Amino acid sequence: MTVKTTARSIEGCSKNIIHLTFEEVSMFVCTVCGYIYDGEDAPENCPKCGAPKEKFDAVAEADAEKIERSRFTNGLHAQLLGLLEEISFVAADGIEDALDPACVDIFKKAMTLSDEISRSVRAELQGHMKKGKWG
Ligand SMILES: [Zn+2]
Repeated sequence: MTVKTTARSIEGCSKNIIHLTFEEVSMFVCTVCGYIYDGEDAPENCPKCGAPKEKFDAVAEADAEKIERSRFTNGLHAQLLGLLEEISFVAADGIEDALDPACVDIFKKAMTLSDEISRSVRAELQGHMKKGKWG
């Protein structure tokens, strides 16, 4: 009973955090290069292509929420890549250490799996960029 209550409150809490983040989103898009600027007002010049302020359009609130939502997921992907890289380093040390064949087997498996997941994450992120989900 207590455990269930805790799980529910954690779930509710994380939803609230995401919701609050979305509410304060204010973005402008450069109509020349697609750069997205976060702020109260459009910048004087586009930081990417140098286009003047007039070339910026306000991003509709619904679209800004979608962009913010993708950024959140992309951030998780980036975190995952970092962890997978750490696994690769540890596995490489384990393979080099080579205490016995069973140990080497485990480290080789860890290396293979982290490489595999890493490739999937990169492919997914490239897909997001093509679909304009990069933000
Ligand atoms: Zn631009």
